[in-house]
This record gives sequence, structure tokens and C-alpha cells, in this order.
Amino acid sequence: MDENCIFCKIISGEIPSELIYKDDVCVAFNDISPQAPTHILVIPREHFASLNEAKDGHKEILGHLMLKTAAIAEEKGIADQGYRVVINTNENGGQTVFHLHIHLLGGRQFIFPPG
Ligand code: AMP
Ligand code: ZN
Repeated sequence: MDENCIFCKIISGEIPSELIYKDDVCVAFNDISPQAPTHILVIPREHFASLNEAKDGHKEILGHLMLKTAAIAEEKGIADQGYRVVINTNENGGQTVFHLHIHLLGGRQFIFPPG
């Protein structure tokens, strides 16, 4: 728990969110500023700032996040048509909240490369 982290506060319930899924490793909730019809954030309960801070010990957590992201996509009915998974990292990646999170975006066509 990082006292200054808004996502840690979402995990603790101090800041409200539209919960999609939770288990003992991760929490998923709707993005407050959706960029697609489906825009869900999947975050680990353990606070680490970004993929740059991921260590060998995080392998299980990272695998869990990816599999749950795919399961949520299926559950939300966007799996067959397809979706995009994004992890923004630091300044050039456009990261604004420094608690690692996966963006699950779906329900519309995306272009590549992104801007
Ligand atoms: P990033 O730019 O990759 O760090 O993404 C941070 C995301 O968190 C943005 O898409 C924001 O809209 C989202 N966000 C920020 N505050 C909240 C909040 N209180 N509840 C839900 N999503 C949030
Ligand atoms: Zn945090």
C-alpha cells in the first residue's frame, strides 16, 4: 500500500470505483475516462509503479493479470471481435498513474501504431 497512490486507495475502497472483478491478486474496474466502449483497468493488489519495477518474483502476478484480462474480455463479450491490451510505462509511454495497470480496451476498431 502506497499512501499517495490513487489505485491503492481504490483497492482499499477509500476511493470508489465501478468494480468489474476482484480476487486475492488483482482488482479490475472501469476507467473513469473511457477511451472505448469497454475500457477496464486491471491492477495488481501489490503496489509497484510500472513494468520497470517488475522483478522475477512478479512473474506469477503478471501472468495472473494477463489471464484475468483475457477472461474479463471474454466475459464482456469483446473477445471474438478483438480488443487491445496496453501497459503505458513512464513518460514516453504516457503513464499518468504510477501503480502498474493493464488497460483493456474494446468495442471499437483501433489503429496501429497508436499516436
Ligand atoms: P495511464 O495513463 O496508463 O497511467 O492510465 C491511467 C488511467 O487511470 C487513465 O486512463 C485514467 O482515466 C484512469 N484513472 C485515473 N483515476 C481514476 C479513477 N479514480 N478511477 C478509474 N480510473 C482512473
Ligand atoms: Zn498503488
